[in-house]
Amino acid sequence: MEGTKHLTPRYSQMALGLADDILGPILADGSKPDFISFGGGLPCPEGFPVEALREASDWCLKTYPSRSLQYSGPEGEPELREQIAAYETSRGNPTSPDEILVTSGSQQALDLCGRVFCDPGSKILIQRPSYIGALEAFNLSQPTYVEMPSDAEGAAPAEIGEEARGVRFAYTLATYCNPTGQTMSAERRKQLIEKAEQYDFWIVEDDPYGELWYEKKPPISIRNLAPHRTIRLCSFSKILAPGLRLGYIIAPRDVIQMFSKIQSYAVLSTPCINQLVAARVLASGLLKTHLPEVRAIYREHSFDMQQALSEFMPKDPGISWTRPEGGMFIWLTLPKPIDTFAMLPKALRMKLLYVPGFAFYPNSPEQNHIRLSFVTVPKEKTIEGVQRLAALVSDELRR
Ligand code: PMP
Repeated sequence: MEGTKHLTPRYSQMALGLADDILGPILADGSKPDFISFGGGLPCPEGFPVEALREASDWCLKTYPSRSLQYSGPEGEPELREQIAAYETSRGNPTSPDEILVTSGSQQALDLCGRVFCDPGSKILIQRPSYIGALEAFNLSQPTYVEMPSDAEGAAPAEIGEEARGVRFAYTLATYCNPTGQTMSAERRKQLIEKAEQYDFWIVEDDPYGELWYEKKPPISIRNLAPHRTIRLCSFSKILAPGLRLGYIIAPRDVIQMFSKIQSYAVLSTPCINQLVAARVLASGLLKTHLPEVRAIYREHSFDMQQALSEFMPKDPGISWTRPEGGMFIWLTLPKPIDTFAMLPKALRMKLLYVPGFAFYPNSPEQNHIRLSFVTVPKEKTIEGVQRLAALVSDELRR
């Protein structure tokens, strides 16, 4: 058989309706070794606890080889759910194991949220700008988006009105947002919960970065303030390693049962061995020493990037950037006429990569922002990369 040329593709309307991945190939191109990439949102590999994972993996395969390599239940391995419950409770989010479902990264949890709560055309209230991967995962369920603006205090729910009627859930990146790095204040978290009560919708709190604080812990989680209204999504990608593909959902028990049903229909279960390895690592108490090390790495990289931006970016009233208190992203704003997607080919010719901000908007994108990802770039390269970026922006300002 030669390819599929002679076949009618019969793709679904959903698949045909998905936007083309314009940025994927560019990001792949920019990850060549001679590029300086502030592009992909990868965690810092220096923070991967390789030895601890190797030991835990050996231990699991020796202690229960068949079980480790067998199918697992849709909700996740009991040991891991117990460890997660204890860990979340110690972080100030009282949780019991039956309020947890283990997923293949929080990306899969986002997909499950779309499938569990949305029909085609359902409304999602979404903070603007938002994580691209969340938009992509939700788009598989063909929703429509009602937008919530955000500023230095994070998503701003005060203006939410009648358009929120019928919303299935609000999606929020309350802590060290991807892409802006900003954090929603405690006051705003309470306002969002009030709106959720008024218009009767769920709040999806996507929190993969909450442990990556630099100096002080972030405000209390939305789940803590409104456990009956919140679907909390967390991930082991930034605190252990993304290759494990492990995340989890915390929600009221009846909602977990619905997630579990869809999880079983879609993937049967999350890989068992990875779950048992993570459970072993958590039980060993590794996070007590490991997390401070990861935070120190992220703090230092963020500081280097802030320093470089202050030193080299042109002094122009239209140029500003966020000052995150944790996480791995800075959001750079340039004067309005500058289109950062149109500027990207010039950056690539200078062997510099960033993600243009337009990609993070559900509707009516803004063109004059850039997401800078800094934790995988060593200090000298950060300085050099920001110098290249500053030269590019100066050029644009002169045009
Ligand atoms: N949510 C947010 C906000 C993210 O930034 C990411 C990854 N970049 C994810 C979810 C998905 O992460 P993972 O599937 O690795 O847990």
